[in-house]
Parts: sequence; C-alpha cells; structure tokens
Amino acid sequence: MRGRLQDFAFECAQQFAFPLRHGACCCGTRRGTINSYKNLAPWEGVPPEKWNDWHWQMQNRVTSAEELSKIIPLTPSERDGIGKCLSHFRMAVTPYYASLINPENPAGPIKRQAVPTVNELRADPCEMADPLREDDYSPTPGLVHRYPDRVLFMLTHKCSMYCRHCTRRRMVGCEDYSLNSEELENAFKYIENHREVHDVLLSGGDPLILSDEWLEKIIKRLRSIKHVGVIRIGTRTPVVMPMRITGGLLSMLKKYHPIWLN
Ligand code: SF4
Repeated sequence: MRGRLQDFAFECAQQFAFPLRHGACCCGTRRGTINSYKNLAPWEGVPPEKWNDWHWQMQNRVTSAEELSKIIPLTPSERDGIGKCLSHFRMAVTPYYASLINPENPAGPIKRQAVPTVNELRADPCEMADPLREDDYSPTPGLVHRYPDRVLFMLTHKCSMYCRHCTRRRMVGCEDYSLNSEELENAFKYIENHREVHDVLLSGGDPLILSDEWLEKIIKRLRSIKHVGVIRIGTRTPVVMPMRITGGLLSMLKKYHPIWLN
C-alpha cells in the first residue's frame, strides 16, 4: 500500500508529465495543453517516461543561445548578450523549466530567472563576490559556521539550473565539484566536536542533484550525531526539476524524519 509520501510523489510525477495543462499561469508561463512540451521542436519526440526522468532532464539542459532559440524567440541583441555573459557565467536550464517560459513575454519572470543577459557583467564598485562573508566563517571546506547553533554544509557546486540571481557565483557553476569523502569526514568531525550545533542546512549548489545513495550517507551520518536536531535541505530543484522528487527519494528521507526542505 502506498503511503502519503508515495501518493505525493505520484501526483507530482503526473503533474510534471503534463506541466502545461490548464492554460497559462498568471505569472507568465507558456500557454499549453496536455503534453504541450511535445510542441517544442527539441522535445517533440520525447516520451513522458523520459521527460519525467530527472537524469534525462539533467543531461538535456539548455546551455547555449542556439539551443534556447529553438524554444523561445531571441532578438539579435539578446543572443549577443547571452554569448557575452556565457564567457563569464554558466547557463543550464532544465527542459521542464525552459518549457514554462512564456515566449510572448520578453521580460517574463521565469525567463529572467533562467536566461542570462549582458547586464550580469555590470559590476558596481560596492558589489562583493562573497556578500555574506561565508568564506571568512568557513572552518573546513564546505562548512560555514557563522551563527553559534547552526552550520551551512555546502555539499556541491552543482545545481540543476543556474539562477541568474545566485549570490554564490564565486563558486557555484564554476566547476562541477562536490565534496569528496575526506572533506565530508572533516566536516562531520567539526560538527561532532561542536556540541552547540543543533541545526545543519545542507546546501551548495543544490544537494538534490546528488544521488539518493550519496545523500543518504550524509543524512544518516548527521542523524547519528546526538546534538544535531534539525536537518534541512536548501534546494530549488522542486521548482526547476520537480521530477527529482521520486518515491525513492521520499522513502529515503522518511527514514530520517523530520527533514526540512527550504
Ligand atoms: S539553486 Fe541556489 S545555489 Fe544554485 S544557482 Fe540557484 S540560487 Fe545559486
């Protein structure tokens, strides 16, 4: 018998297979009907089982102006801006999220979150690469201990989509890097030795791009530390690649309940 979490995953999977049903959203998403993603040239032959596979979504992210122009219209200046921006910052938009961009709204909110512009290269003298001074509060790679009772645990530099508003661009998206076993162990030891740490926020990058197995090793180890009461996952993946919320992931998380998603 399926539990509530599995029911939730099933409902999500159904919804993500047909992300464009019921017409347009007031926030400016693309108008469409059931299976409308198949009306977009790059994905017209993609069956729902592939569309709903998060690995497929990751492998088929939109990473260039040329690919994007097959999904939404781009002006010559937009193309030029994307090209210039990509020489400094990365673009990767999941097909799911790209399919939600309203092609008729040049300044639509989803487009602005996902598509680079030349304006990203404008840097005001008062801007900082590390505005929250996270690096200054990092006792060991991947860990930030700024407030006494909580730590930020940055597991990876990878994300399912690279947001244009990211405040961690100094590291996120620069290279496909995730903490290795030794770095993880050093972070666990630091948390074990600091009994004041009650709250661990798993972050990155986006922890949900990691495999269920790798994520479980980390969560299991954290749960074994008696003074850690709160484990949170900071993620945008449910928004930009909701098919990642599989029954398998939910069953794994359930074992370590409660796990909070922020
Ligand atoms: S998901 Fe978070 S870390 Fe990743 S690009 Fe977006 S804002 Fe930055």
